[in-house]
This record gives sequence, structure tokens and C-alpha cells, in this order.
Amino acid sequence: MKTFESLNPATGEVVGVFPITSAKEVNEVVARANSAAEQWSRLSFRKRLVVLKDWASLLTKEINTAAEIIHRETGKPVSDATLETALAIEHISWAAKFSSKVLGSQSRPSGLLMFNMSAQVQRVPYGTVGVIGPWNYPIFTPMGSIAYALAAGNTVVFKPSEFTPAIGVWLEQCWQRIAPFSGIFTVVTGDAETGVALTKSNVGKISFTGSTRTAKKVAAACAENMTPVVLECGGKDPVLIDRDADIKKAAEVTLWHAMSNAGQSCIGAERVYVHKDVADVFTKSIVEMAQKLKPGYEDGANYGPATMPSQLKVIKSHIDDAVKRGGEYLIGDKNSVKDGYVQPVILRNVPEDSKAMTEETFGPTLVINTVRHMDEAVDLANATSYGLGAAVWSKRNGKKIASLLNCGMVSINSAFSFAAIASVPFGGVKDSGYGRIHGAEGLLEFTYPRTIVKTKFNIPLQFTTFQRTGFADKTIVRIVNLLHRRRIR
Ligand code: NAD
Repeated sequence: MKTFESLNPATGEVVGVFPITSAKEVNEVVARANSAAEQWSRLSFRKRLVVLKDWASLLTKEINTAAEIIHRETGKPVSDATLETALAIEHISWAAKFSSKVLGSQSRPSGLLMFNMSAQVQRVPYGTVGVIGPWNYPIFTPMGSIAYALAAGNTVVFKPSEFTPAIGVWLEQCWQRIAPFSGIFTVVTGDAETGVALTKSNVGKISFTGSTRTAKKVAAACAENMTPVVLECGGKDPVLIDRDADIKKAAEVTLWHAMSNAGQSCIGAERVYVHKDVADVFTKSIVEMAQKLKPGYEDGANYGPATMPSQLKVIKSHIDDAVKRGGEYLIGDKNSVKDGYVQPVILRNVPEDSKAMTEETFGPTLVINTVRHMDEAVDLANATSYGLGAAVWSKRNGKKIASLLNCGMVSINSAFSFAAIASVPFGGVKDSGYGRIHGAEGLLEFTYPRTIVKTKFNIPLQFTTFQRTGFADKTIVRIVNLLHRRRIR
């Protein structure tokens, strides 16, 4: 059996050794999950709720263990790992609690033409959902698919990132302790090849979270079998700061928005567009606070190393390109990327077509560009191939500005907050992907609608038959006239 190691990015220590699951083994796991799905989908919402609540409760009891594993595998501070786990638990609980309300059968009006029929829409789980996860929030991010898919009556086969297999395997071990029978939630470890095998297996749906580059390959593989797919990809999130904003708060929260988790957040702030009237105050305030940040692995560090060492080259190339093209360092210099860590980098006046403004940097870096008015900020915010999240800082015009942004989620006078509100959908547009996790939309995503109509009573006029009479034809025209004919203005 082939194996791989999960390494602590801060110390190089081996966190664990895990199997590279082969395509044959993936297919066997999916076959078992498919047969478990028959039983799991037949349970009532209430019975699934009890199982999922037990899981949430066990994870709550074991939250420190989860945080410690995430800390060792990603290098992020224990407190960040704890927060991430707490939010994942909140999503399990919400999905379980609201599944019956969102997914219960609905009666629909049948209309005058079909008044003798009843009409109903049922929501049907897909069977097995294959979840492919990233490493940056290795429990929170995949849980947005896992919890909602399970609550909707699917079984799940989860392939965690090759950088964070230990937390995935631990999640499965916790599940086994409360599972009513086997095959409902299974983890397959491995690298890209294992992910490819899952996309080609006999799953009913794939939910992928990761880079846009991989997402395109996943979508292409799924297209071969007509497997539906949710794609949660990268972003280049903008922060728009109006002149009436609480500037001190905006600076404090935007610094965290950009640099927490070492900037490795799909919804992390990467670009700031600040109104010229408040640009100096904002810049001074954020730079002062950024100077106090301490990256490291020890207790009290604000953020950890780059989890995936190859990203360091990308971050450096974006900074170098920005500076070469006229951007100025407000904090940081050409030596900010070294020894596995990135010191805080804030740049200003960076050309809008440079890599630091168009491609996902995924590091603790931020560009601050000044705008003359908020219309310009909106235009620049929208001028990107991504469309995941955004933040707006304004006392009076927050909602107005937010409604002009081409993206899936906007927080006003806060950052990241939509990810922690389980009732609202999470996802993007354009290169940031399609489909939604979280909220009612997240539950609906993991089911398809099945329409059931039934004859309540027979009427003398029959339309769906070769025996249809001229009188029936005239009646149809009469009804259509009654319903839809009006004078056109
Ligand atoms: P990645 O695309 O390199 O890998 C993601 C997962 O896909 C991994 O498990 C990997 O093994 C697997 N994989 C790789 N090639 C595959 C293939 N051909 N077929 C199937 N699976 C394959 O991404 P990453 O580096 O792990 O994660 C970082 C990216 O994820 C960033 O772009 C970030 O913005 C994005 N992200 C998005 C969200 C969101 O909700 N929108 C959340 C977190 C991270």
C-alpha cells in the first residue's frame, strides 16, 4: 500500500502517515456508501437529527483535540483552530435542525387548467456525495458540504487535502463512535489522484472546495458522467471604505480580514479601495497595528507559517511584481518572505492590472488603493475574474454599495461574518465557482426536486388523450383568454 506523510509546516515534524487510496479502493468505498445511502435516506429527518446532534456534541467535547491536530497540520494558532471547529459544529447543528423544514414535501397550486390535479414537490438526496476539501480551514470548509449533505439524507465520502489528512481521519473516527451503522460517512486519504478517482466514481454529486485551476478539472471529469458538482473556489476579495466609515474599526478588522490564518482564506481581504478623504487616516491606523503582528508557531503568535510551502513563491512573485510596477511598501520589504513565513506586507498605489490585484495571493499581504468616490471603488472591485466575497465599510451607504457588487457574499462593517451565520448561503460567481453550501440553499443543493402530480377526480373534458374533442379545444382557448388576455399598452 502506498502512503504519504502529513508534515507540520512549522517544525517539519511528521504528524501522521496515511494511505494513498487507489481508484479501486475509492470505488469500493463509494459502493458501500451507496448501499448505506438506501438506509440513511429512509430514516426520518428526526432520526438523522439525533445522530448529527450526537456528532456535534461529541466534537464539542473533543474540541481541544481537534484544535491541536489542526494546529499541528496547518501551523495556525490553536485559538484560530478552536474557532474554526466551533463554527463547523454550529453548521452541523443548523443543518440537522432545519433539514425537515427546508426539505419537507411541498404542495403547489395546480392552476385553473389542471384544477382536478394535486401537485407536490419532494426533495430527494443524490445518494452518495463526494466531498473534496482544501487545507486552509480543514474542518470548517468541508463541513459546509458534509453536514448539509448528511442532513439531507445522503451518505458522504470525504477526501481531505493531502496537507491535512489527520483532521479528516479524526473526524471519521468521531463519527464512528456515534454512527447507527457503517458506510454513512467515510474518509479516503490521498493526493490529487485519489480526488480524481472520487470524481470518476459512482457518486451522485461532487462538492469540491479548492483552487479555480483544480475546479475546472473537477468539473470536466464530472461532465463525463453527468455528475452534478458544486464548486467553491478562490477569491480576490475587495474591501470598500467610504468616507463616513468608522475608520479605526475598519482598519482593525481589515487587518485581521487580510492577515489572519496567514492570509490563507478564500474570503480574505486582498484589495482595499478607500475614499481619498479618509485614505491617510485609514492607512496610518492599519500600518500601526500591522507593525505589532507576530507571525510564529509559539503561543501568542498572531498567525502561523504558510501551510503549503509552494505558495511562498506565488506570494513573493505578487509582491515583487507589484513593486516593480510602481507599488510602494507601507510595511514589509523584499525580505518579508523567508523561512516558511511571510511577515505582514501592505502596499499602496499598485497598478490594477498587476498580479497582486488580479490573481489570488493567499498570503498576509494587502494592497491599499485610493479612489475618488465609491462608484469608482465599485467598478474596481468588480473588475476581476473572481466573485466570492467583499466587505463594505460605511455608516449610511453600506447596503447600497453592497447591492452593486458582483459576488456571492458581502459583509457591512464587519468581515467574514457571513461564514459564521449558518442560515445564509455561502458561495461565489465567476471564477469563484457555482452552487451553494450553508443555509437553506446548502440543504437544497444536496437534493434534487421530484415532482409528483395526482388526479384528484376525473372531469368530462379530457386534454391528454387522442380522444380530445373540439369542445375541449374551445374550452382551453376560452380559459387561456380568461386568464391571460389583456389590452397591451
Ligand atoms: P487545490 O485545488 O490544490 O486542492 C483542493 C483539493 O482537490 C485537494 O484535496 C486536492 O488533493 C484535490 N485535487 C487536486 N487535483 C484534483 C483533481 N484533478 N481532481 C480532484 N481532486 C483534486 O486547493 P488547495 O490548495 O487545497 O486549497 C486552496 C484553495 O481553496 C484556494 O484557492 C482557496 O481560495 C480555495 N478555497 C475556497 C473556499 C470556498 O469556500 N470558496 C474555501 C477554502 C478554500
